[in-house]
Amino acid sequence: MQVTVHCLHCHHRQTLDLEALRDKYGEDAPAMATDLAPRMRCRACKKRAVGFSYTPDPTKHSGMGVSNAYTKAKDGR
Ligand SMILES: [Zn+2]
Repeated sequence: MQVTVHCLHCHHRQTLDLEALRDKYGEDAPAMATDLAPRMRCRACKKRAVGFSYTPDPTKHSGMGVSNAYTKAKDGR
């Protein structure tokens, strides 16, 4: 899973370093990426309006249960 952050103002794009986040916050880091959204700032223009897009990365199987948790939450309505 890859998380790309794009700025709504200057269209600067950056990829979140999930491995660094994981080192910092533990296995919940990918889920936390969305929590971080309101706090994220564009590195280029320093504005806060950033969008997130998640890209599943089929070449990496990290074994983290993020999508499982998500599916479960969806099904458990
Ligand atoms: Zn920007």
